Amino acid sequence: MAVKTVKIGLEVHCQLTSLKSKLFCSCPTDYRGKPPNTNICPVCMGEPGTLPVLNKEALRSAIMIALALHSDISRFTYFTRKNYFYPDMAKNFQISQYDGVGGAPLAKGGYVVLNNGKTVRIRRIQLEEDPARLIYEGSIDTAPSALVDYNRHGIALVEIVTEPDMSSPEEARLFLQKLRSILEHLGVFDGELEGAMRCDANISLEGGVRVEIKNISSYKEVERALMFEITRQSNLLSRGIKIARETRFWDERRRITVSLRTKETEEDYRYFPEPDLPPIVLTDEFLDDVKRKLPMLPDERRRVFVEKYGVSEQNADVLVSDKALADFFEKCLKHYDKAQELSSLLVGDFLAQLHSLNMSIRDVKVSPSQIAKLLKLLDDKVLTGLSAKTVLREMIATGEDPESIIQKKELHRISSRDMLTELVDQVFTMNPKAVEDALVNEKAIHFLVGQVMRMTRGKADPTLVREIVEEKLGKIEPNRVG
Ligand SMILES: [Zn+2]
Repeated sequence: MAVKTVKIGLEVHCQLTSLKSKLFCSCPTDYRGKPPNTNICPVCMGEPGTLPVLNKEALRSAIMIALALHSDISRFTYFTRKNYFYPDMAKNFQISQYDGVGGAPLAKGGYVVLNNGKTVRIRRIQLEEDPARLIYEGSIDTAPSALVDYNRHGIALVEIVTEPDMSSPEEARLFLQKLRSILEHLGVFDGELEGAMRCDANISLEGGVRVEIKNISSYKEVERALMFEITRQSNLLSRGIKIARETRFWDERRRITVSLRTKETEEDYRYFPEPDLPPIVLTDEFLDDVKRKLPMLPDERRRVFVEKYGVSEQNADVLVSDKALADFFEKCLKHYDKAQELSSLLVGDFLAQLHSLNMSIRDVKVSPSQIAKLLKLLDDKVLTGLSAKTVLREMIATGEDPESIIQKKELHRISSRDMLTELVDQVFTMNPKAVEDALVNEKAIHFLVGQVMRMTRGKADPTLVREIVEEKLGKIEPNRVG
């Protein structure tokens, strides 16, 4: 099947998780884990006689985001009613913003530069309220029943819409990762919270039409959902079947998309300016103040890591793509000043161990000073690189000091020439064929060194072992050949 040109655009919804209260009422934002329908009040439930009041901090946070994404902020903006009937909105409309005729979203334009160097343009940024959460019983396409929990209803959301500038599922993931890092650096968002970032994706293949995918819950899912959709659409196109312009639902459990509805048009929502909230006029003073207080963002931080600390560009990219990891790196750097070595440990073995332990950087028990101790032990040749992996894993899981793990597991590096010569002798006796091969084949030398490493469970000084092996081979060669 020929690879077709793919165009992907995203519509990302991010909760402003640092806020204390919802967008238009004083209900708290820590709804997660609360019994259903207990985090609500007459305002967010839209009861007659109540009026919404804008949370000023939400506006400030949204402006910070718009500035960080290089968007043009509207000096005059207002909210719009998006009318629709659905159980996830108690009022039968959502207070949102609109980009069409008669609308004035908070900001337009802007861009994000991905780690692969690609620039993705932003179309608009707006502020709106989060709908309630529907909990489906059964699967979406087999007549499910749905329960509704309004605890989330009215939480402040920032909607970020991109142009269809991404050309692969991987780029969509890179975009969400970069966005998450930017929002976390701004201090307005915590991506670890379940459902804090959700997105819809639109995708079109060359010769096809635009299809929208709803219900993508994370940057890990976005890649899967888009991969599925590319395969599905390519199959249809290659068989000459027309692709329907529709909205599909990503079923995370079954990892497929299913048809939800044929696309409604914007007019169906009967947008009109929200009469219960006054328009917002933003002054230069206010915008300048927000701009002045913007914290350091990932791109600038990356530059500092590379230019000031001397970290490689590749390592710096990985570090700043997760604010918590970049913060951890800087804390470690206070105890250990070889920045490049430190960064390599963190983006390499440290992340690999986190992954295999299924832990997040936020759960690690190990302290920055302990990481520094481990690196110093490696510098002092107290343990081998191989043993260091074992020690690191234990440190991450338990928070124990590296020295005590080395003691307990007897992981001190073996660098006694006598002891290693004895082991090499044993290996030579046990592997005569490999010894012969080693005279002409580099791979066999690796094998012999590997055998000694195995016998010592990775504790032997590998450089010294190799030296002894080569010495012994050198002695053998003239005898045999002669
Ligand atoms: Zn409320």
